[in-house]
Amino acid sequence: MSNARVLRLRKEMEQRGLEAIWVASDINRRYLTGFTGSSGYVLITHDRAILLTDFRYMTQAPEQSPDFEVIEHAKVTDTLKTLLQELRISRLAFEQDHVTFAAYSNYAEELAPIELIPTSGLIEDLRMIKDEDELRIMRDAASLADRTFSHILNYLKPGVSEKDIALEMEYFMRKHGATSSSFDTIVASGERSALPHGVASERIIQGNEFIKLDFGAYFQGYCSDITRTVVLGTPTDKHKEIYNIVLESQLYALEHIRPGMTGREADALARDIITRYGYGPNFGHSLGHGLGMEVHERPGLSKASDTVLTPGMTVTVEPGIYVPGFGGVRIEDDIVITENGIEIITQSTKDLLVLEM
Ligand code: ZN
Ligand code: ZN
Repeated sequence: MSNARVLRLRKEMEQRGLEAIWVASDINRRYLTGFTGSSGYVLITHDRAILLTDFRYMTQAPEQSPDFEVIEHAKVTDTLKTLLQELRISRLAFEQDHVTFAAYSNYAEELAPIELIPTSGLIEDLRMIKDEDELRIMRDAASLADRTFSHILNYLKPGVSEKDIALEMEYFMRKHGATSSSFDTIVASGERSALPHGVASERIIQGNEFIKLDFGAYFQGYCSDITRTVVLGTPTDKHKEIYNIVLESQLYALEHIRPGMTGREADALARDIITRYGYGPNFGHSLGHGLGMEVHERPGLSKASDTVLTPGMTVTVEPGIYVPGFGGVRIEDDIVITENGIEIITQSTKDLLVLEM
């Protein structure tokens, strides 16, 4: 773990005229320090990088965060106040999206007269651009999702419940190195496949229907997120029609997404195709989202996103069509924006898989 991330943060701080920042978010703390403990804070100034944690982690934290001074705290505001006085800091930036009102009130009272400066998305913006270490982990997380998909195909049979399928997928992922799944595994069969977010239920898989699987591995601190939709039994023309439109739109988007494009432009690539076939209203969500330490992070690929796609960003591409009462299809891959285009890091086949009952 290099401290290149701290250097990037300092550059941002300089541009915004911030002399010190207090990092209270667990994920942002892990991003900066590499420390995986359940509790801790980071104080970054122009020349100090300090990790504060409690006595439980005084062995682990220095091992995981060799670039940081590790300081043990009891009452954290006391330790912080002493540090700020020592460093002659009078204005302290904090992450307004990660500090509750109660915590803020407490800081304000205990740290007075230090001025608290709210900031938003400072570290999240840095996290959008992944470095090589992060990309290596994300490729592994994606590959684990691919292997899980191949594995679960053997279990898709009439009479099995969606929950049993989800359980087997989660077991497989953990058995192969995942800490957990990235989010509640979606197994949505038959009519339920029309639910964009149909978390596995007690429904028994019948056959002659779609089964939509949306899942990912949370692996070494990073998430993968893939969706594949298969047919168990015999597909009707309607199954094939919907599947082929979603596939066409997804492939077209993957072929044309490139750096310099906005999230909105990327979204339109797939949306225009689905709309042309008359299914625009059945594609109610955005094309994709940033992926990394969190399963949904910046940038979005959506109608509302002005963010310019930049090399090192990792996003999902996941168009879908959902027909209430019938079923739905989503096809989702994870990609990295590169200098010239994209790298697709999920590899599972996207041919319509028709599984024997
Ligand atoms: Zn997904
Ligand atoms: Zn997703």
